[in-house]
Amino acid sequence: CGIVGYIGNRDAVSVLLNGLKRLEYRGYDSSGVAVAHENHQLEMEKATGKIVNLEKKLLAHPLSGTVGIAHTRWATHGIPSEKNAHPQVSYDGKIMVVHNGIIENYAQIKSRLEADGVQFQSDTDTEVVAHLIAKLYRGDIKSAVLDALKKLEGTFGLAILCADEPDVLIGARRGSPLVLGLGDQGEYFLASDVSAIVDYTQKVVYLDDNDVVIAKRSGYEIVTVSSRTVNRSVEEIDFDA
Ligand code: GLU
Repeated sequence: CGIVGYIGNRDAVSVLLNGLKRLEYRGYDSSGVAVAHENHQLEMEKATGKIVNLEKKLLAHPLSGTVGIAHTRWATHGIPSEKNAHPQVSYDGKIMVVHNGIIENYAQIKSRLEADGVQFQSDTDTEVVAHLIAKLYRGDIKSAVLDALKKLEGTFGLAILCADEPDVLIGARRGSPLVLGLGDQGEYFLASDVSAIVDYTQKVVYLDDNDVVIAKRSGYEIVTVSSRTVNRSVEEIDFDA
């Protein structure tokens, strides 16, 4: 339902939660947030119900970091529950994804992965995305994501973290909106709706279907799922919040 992502120098969790709250009016049944640490660990917290429930959990177990992703879920596959909330995590804990949309061929991918020994932790269609990327990861998150997306049918807005590349934030879309926000130097945002990030920037790039954005503090690049580098224009939005 709602996606927010951040890489930069601020406290990611406060940026992400602020963004999620901006998207609350759209409705959701659960929420979650994850951060990437320099020591190659990803950490997340999830909660059912209102974002305030997530905030309460974060008070008890604070997450700190400057790279992260967050989601409000509107369940399509799997009941609203904590395990089905996003982020969804790969079997090795190295990949975390938040997803809007529906992976139409998740059942085929799931049975192939299960035959391969992968144990699923949720009832979502989304979980296959995390496992696929982990399976295809050979030290380069960009190519692992591109290879995984080639196997997906259906619709997705995605934000992705990789434990072994904690200085990279990845976004991708097909049939579900996603926008890249350009903040201060070395700072980028992802959002399923620009209203989530207007508190921080008015400079945005609207991604096209099949675009994948790789954002690092040193800059960003947009490629298509078929690995073609593309230039998308930067727009100044005029948003009265
Ligand atoms: N299909 C996914 C799920 O049910 C994503 C739902 C959404 O767009 O929030 O988990």
